[in-house]
Amino acid sequence: MQLTVWTYEGPPHVGAMRVATAMREVHYVLHAPQGDTYADLLFTMIERRDRRPPVTYTTFQARDLGSDTAELFKTAAAEAVERFQPQALMVGASCTAELIQDDPGGLAKALGLSLPVVPLELPSYSKKENWGAAETFYQMVRTLAGPNAPAPGVTRPERPADARPSCNLLGPTALGFRHRDDVLEVTKLLQSIGVEVQVVAPLNATPADLARLGDADFNVVLYPEIAQTAAGWLKRTFRQPHTTVVPIGIGATRDFLAEVAELAGVDPGPALAGAPSRLPWWSRSIDSTYLTGKRVFVFGDGCHVVAAARIAREELGFEVVGLGTYSREMAREVRTAAEGYGLEALITDDYLEVEEQIEALQPELVLGTQMERHIAKRLGVGCAVISAPVHVQDFPARYAPQMGWEGANVIFDTWVHPLMMGLEEHLLGMFREDFEFNDEAGGSHLGHGSKRSGPEAPVESREAAPGPETAIPQTSTAEAMASQTTTPETTTPVAPFWTAEAESELGKIPFFVRGKARRNTERFANQRSISAITVETLYDAKAHFGK
Ligand code: SF4
Repeated sequence: MQLTVWTYEGPPHVGAMRVATAMREVHYVLHAPQGDTYADLLFTMIERRDRRPPVTYTTFQARDLGSDTAELFKTAAAEAVERFQPQALMVGASCTAELIQDDPGGLAKALGLSLPVVPLELPSYSKKENWGAAETFYQMVRTLAGPNAPAPGVTRPERPADARPSCNLLGPTALGFRHRDDVLEVTKLLQSIGVEVQVVAPLNATPADLARLGDADFNVVLYPEIAQTAAGWLKRTFRQPHTTVVPIGIGATRDFLAEVAELAGVDPGPALAGAPSRLPWWSRSIDSTYLTGKRVFVFGDGCHVVAAARIAREELGFEVVGLGTYSREMAREVRTAAEGYGLEALITDDYLEVEEQIEALQPELVLGTQMERHIAKRLGVGCAVISAPVHVQDFPARYAPQMGWEGANVIFDTWVHPLMMGLEEHLLGMFREDFEFNDEAGGSHLGHGSKRSGPEAPVESREAAPGPETAIPQTSTAEAMASQTTTPETTTPVAPFWTAEAESELGKIPFFVRGKARRNTERFANQRSISAITVETLYDAKAHFGK
């Protein structure tokens, strides 16, 4: 067993709790020692749920181990059914309880309960949270929808001509990264091409909803980590096809609509023509300054990293320099995606290994989980969070999907802002000795708090007609000149002139800092007796003041 400070995934019973907590009218009896009740806090504190998860823990203690813990389980299960009256009961064991081998499934069966009981066998020492969620969802679907399955060999009846095509959305859970909002966005997307959503599961579904999953024409696999196993079973058992594209990003949303249209037999043309996202134009317009050629490192769960790498490369013009996942179940997909970028995927659940690779690759932006956010912060690199494991800030009060057209807008904002902030830091560093931006001067936006007083002059007029604050640059120049007295060739200040190319390059700098860039470059040139400022001088000055 390995003890860690951080972990990407919890044990598999936490995955089962994500399914139970997402659903309605179910209860989960978990054979677990007293301390394992900590898992409740993931939902009430991180996701800010207003209710405890529907879980009864047997909470056995050390002194119970010498007596009958199996009896303890049976009592807890019978009392939970009596008290909560669920439509279905899930039973299982946490990591520690697994070791005492009490067989919760067999014990619950022995109780002869009059509701469906779903025994969960989740091997805690070889599997993790996402696998636990996928296995739990599959077992729930199988137990509850199974009785309605057609006999083997019976063909699926054709949809009546006047019926709208319908689908189920599979995969969203409690504690999922933006699952709540993705469901709304994808439902809107499907409605835009005339497809109706019958059941969303497990999020907000009841056992009765799972029982009617087979009624829809096809399934949409929103999160393969969680829904793939159940969707595969539904395909084999009900002959329901399912989607393979996860609609994160503009390209993937288009591909998803085309795939759904094919499954539903509808025309995606009008919806594709609309494509109402600001990402494509903004990423090609002024914002491309922050994007083109930026080196990004991508790490997270399988479906989000594959989508993120595609957006980074195809939609924002980044260079993907590293790609990896902690999801062992999605390793093949991530390896294939990485090969497409000429990379070898990093498949690991050791955050120290991820940190090492980020340090070695020196990206300009990290797209990762909350773990990588910490790593990037330590290394001084911008970061945007794209995947679980989640943190309280991944559950914003506002609408913030990752999928569909609006998801693309959210992604644009989240990824580009760290780069813009990085530029802002850089500019502040570059002009930190400037008369307006030095620490003594105070913030120009602070009004009364600023040391400078008097009306603000427009940027251009301040450049043209320096006011009283020019006392400071004069001092700086004097100091610069004083320091130059030891260097014979710089005793006579020269008045540099700007070559046409340098003037044109200067013109590309945002107007609000252009004047300062001009002054700093001239100061830099003066100190070195450079008479003609070229593009090279401009960048040498930038590098000098940015140190
Ligand atoms: S033994 Fe399992 S349930 Fe208990 S704290 Fe460790 S990971 Fe969590």
